[in-house]
Amino acid sequence: MNDQDLIKIAAEFGNPVYVYNAEKIKSQYLRLTNAFSKVKQLRINYAVKALSNISILKLFKGLGSGLDTVSIQEVQLGLKAGFDPSRIIYTPNGVSLEEIEEASKLGVQINIDNLSILEQFGTRHPKVPVCIRINPHVMAGGNSNISVGHIDSKFGISIHQIPHLLRIVENTGMNINGIHMHTGSDILDIEVFLYASEILFDTAKHFKDLEFLDFGSGFKVPYKEGDIETDIEELGEKLTKKFKSFCKEYGRELTLTFEPGKFLVSESGKFVVRVNVIKQTTSTVFAGVDSGFNHLIRPMFYGSQHVIRNISNPAGKERFYSVVGYICETDTFATNRRIAEIKEGDLLCFSNAGGYCFSMASNYNSRYRPAEVLWYNGEAHLIRKRETFEDLVRNLVEIDLENL
Ligand SMILES: *Cc1c(COP(=O)(O)O)cnc(C)c1O
Repeated sequence: MNDQDLIKIAAEFGNPVYVYNAEKIKSQYLRLTNAFSKVKQLRINYAVKALSNISILKLFKGLGSGLDTVSIQEVQLGLKAGFDPSRIIYTPNGVSLEEIEEASKLGVQINIDNLSILEQFGTRHPKVPVCIRINPHVMAGGNSNISVGHIDSKFGISIHQIPHLLRIVENTGMNINGIHMHTGSDILDIEVFLYASEILFDTAKHFKDLEFLDFGSGFKVPYKEGDIETDIEELGEKLTKKFKSFCKEYGRELTLTFEPGKFLVSESGKFVVRVNVIKQTTSTVFAGVDSGFNHLIRPMFYGSQHVIRNISNPAGKERFYSVVGYICETDTFATNRRIAEIKEGDLLCFSNAGGYCFSMASNYNSRYRPAEVLWYNGEAHLIRKRETFEDLVRNLVEIDLENL
């Protein structure tokens, strides 16, 4: 999928448009499974929330992946995509007992992350196997928005509460079949991850009927030049060793599970936008594009730096630009960025647009959400239509105020 392909896709399906390269998703999936090829039972559960288009879910099904879901709606999407419920884990945070019961009725693996719900669920459904999400209190990365293992995180059951957890399990007679952790989206240091995994192993020793250990995700991918990415191969080698020796000690072969989102889809995605206006101020050259944080919120929300290329003029002389959106609010994609000379009408392409981009899009400013295209076997396939005015007003109820 090269620049010319992207230009053709924008011509055919309009812009802005998200384009995902199936080959890249596949190669990332294989990279991960290869790194853990010595583990007898490996399970990859793709984290739906990163990119939840049903055709993407079907692509993962074809690769042999399961799904990690965080809402009943994601569970339903997974089932609609044809996944067997046994291949779906449901890992919600802060949802009601009723929703967890509903998911459980659909037959998916339940993962519970607080003692209150654990006690209620275990009391009512002692026979349903449940996985437990622990918080190992390990900081992975420095951005407090995305590191979820620290002491005041809302995620997981603190490892300091294990005695209480064990009491609940004993009192209810429930069956714990998995232990889970997900320490956030920034594994830079493999030693930190391995340290957290030791805590997971220590916790697991308390439970006699485990089937799997879920190490979550947080694998880092490069966004810009010089970024570090998680060394999956090194992690594979080191964690496999520890996992094998744990299984030996535990006396049973367990399944090793991961649930990556970003690692699998981030780099597969490109977001193509058109430049509406070039505007020079006293200090800056702005390139204003036909999109905004309604379509791609990561730069404004997390300070993410997506590489932006001018695919209409890739060999042009580089100049400094601030790339901004059309939302009536501060809406900055990039500040003072070196980009090949931009003219009005040029197409810009954002990299790393596969994970947490479309899935976080909104209709703010009453704009349509863009189309999504899957590049598969050398061809472009529309997998989501661009919205229309009909979509914007579908659920609106116009009441007759004058006659009320
Ligand atoms: C979001 C999420 C993931 C995926 O995280 P990535 O950083 O995208 O790999 C995995 N597990 C859970 C429970 C999540 O909430």
